[in-house]
Amino acid sequence: MSTMSAVYINGRFRTADRTEPVLEAATGELLGQGADATTANVDEAVAAARAALPGWRSTPPEQRAHILSAFADELQRRARSTEELVTRENGMPISLSRGANGAFPPALLRYYAHLITTTPQEEVRPSMVGHTIVRREAVGVVAAVVPWNYPQALAAFKFAPALAAGCTVVLKAAAETALDALVFAEAAQACGLPAGALNVIPGGAAAGAHLVSHPGVDKVTFTGSTATGRVIGEVCGRLLRPVTLELGGKSAAIILDDADLDVTMRGLRSASFVNNGQTCFLSSRILAPRSRYAEIVEALAALADGLRVGNPLDSATDVGPLVSERQRDRVLDFVASAANSGAKLVAGGSIPKDRDRGWFVAPTVFADVDNSDRLAREEVFGPVLAVIPYVTESDAIALANESEFGLAGTVWSSDEDRAMEVARALETGTVGINDYQLDFRAPFGGVKASGIGRELGPEGLDSFFSLKSIYRTGQPALPHPTPGMQP
Ligand code: NAD
Repeated sequence: MSTMSAVYINGRFRTADRTEPVLEAATGELLGQGADATTANVDEAVAAARAALPGWRSTPPEQRAHILSAFADELQRRARSTEELVTRENGMPISLSRGANGAFPPALLRYYAHLITTTPQEEVRPSMVGHTIVRREAVGVVAAVVPWNYPQALAAFKFAPALAAGCTVVLKAAAETALDALVFAEAAQACGLPAGALNVIPGGAAAGAHLVSHPGVDKVTFTGSTATGRVIGEVCGRLLRPVTLELGGKSAAIILDDADLDVTMRGLRSASFVNNGQTCFLSSRILAPRSRYAEIVEALAALADGLRVGNPLDSATDVGPLVSERQRDRVLDFVASAANSGAKLVAGGSIPKDRDRGWFVAPTVFADVDNSDRLAREEVFGPVLAVIPYVTESDAIALANESEFGLAGTVWSSDEDRAMEVARALETGTVGINDYQLDFRAPFGGVKASGIGRELGPEGLDSFFSLKSIYRTGQPALPHPTPGMQP
């Protein structure tokens, strides 16, 4: 049996009852048959995770850390083929895939393996009449639902801290990237992770919906669109079930009037176009000062025109295809509606001439966009930028904050202190100064319609604990407060 079209439940691969074709983004050809989890698969996976919970939760943190390090080694051993597989599935340029799908998940597992051994399970706090023990306890069975754009990294955002905390996990991967998800299962089996601690069930929206509302689930963690996030948030609200939501964005790049345009354009290559525009934190609204507007629009057009569009498996490629025909058509619809709204097309705007197979869209830049236009308000999830002029720095901040979303943003200036002041004023979960490089030691997440809660860093681990306070009033008050635990 090919493990790639299976589901992985309770430590065993099982032939999928139902499959869905996975197409290669660059060619449109069949890559393989991915599992499409059934309701019964979801029920079995949740039951396996529940059964594994008492054993995994009570495994000493050092032992969990040891197994997670072995898990990291197993993923690393498979990294080369995983990188290529994801690139074929979703069109991610291979140069990016090496980091995002090859190096990142093992690195994150090792980070949380270390963190769990240095995070106290119990802390003692002095109370008025004795002392209190504050315990961190694994929250329980975790439902993790992820999208296709960074399938390996975003799944690791969830299962690495969850498993470290002592939770067991049901991972529902997206149908578009059903094949690479099973690499986690192979590695989990090979490293000796107990059966049921991590279950992998690729599938569609129906499987996801059944999973997040399942009575056997204790916490939901979701990455995906804001529309789906709202639905999951409503379900979890009704069930009073803890939920972390990492959703969409329409982040702003504020180019200040003293910005070095070479540095800015070098940085925006990645900050605004990475992964063919299929990235949640992209700076896709470019706020340009009127005093340098023509120069900036010209530089952005040159940047977009200079990006190498092509085979994502070629390491010289900057921009590959979009994940699917549907996604390509959606992006082209945005382009058409921006052109109709009076915005000025200065680069791209169509399917590249030499790319009749696969789902390519040329890197596109629209100038003279109004912040209230659809292109400035909605997430495109493709290589399309909107340039919006501003006059004063405070106008730029107001425009950046005038958005339904608040996931990320960037500030570009030759004065770091000035850029810091602007960064502090932005209503958003993360900001990059003269670059945007996600840091897994720091919390990541959004405000407003970009989500609820944080992943990564110690805060990402904390989200998989529930806290219990045990009041020991009969015990003597502590003579000295525990360092760092003052009220
Ligand atoms: P999507 O919301 O359509 O799907 C995401 C996942 O949810 C898939 O696995 C899908 O099968 C599942 N799903 C769909 N409907 C569901 C339901 N009702 N209940 C439970 N699960 C359901 O998103 P997408 O279009 O595949 O992914 C792109 C989106 O993800 C973009 O909006 C992007 O901004 C967002 N994203 C956010 C982050 C972040 O960290 N904030 C990171 C990457 C992507």
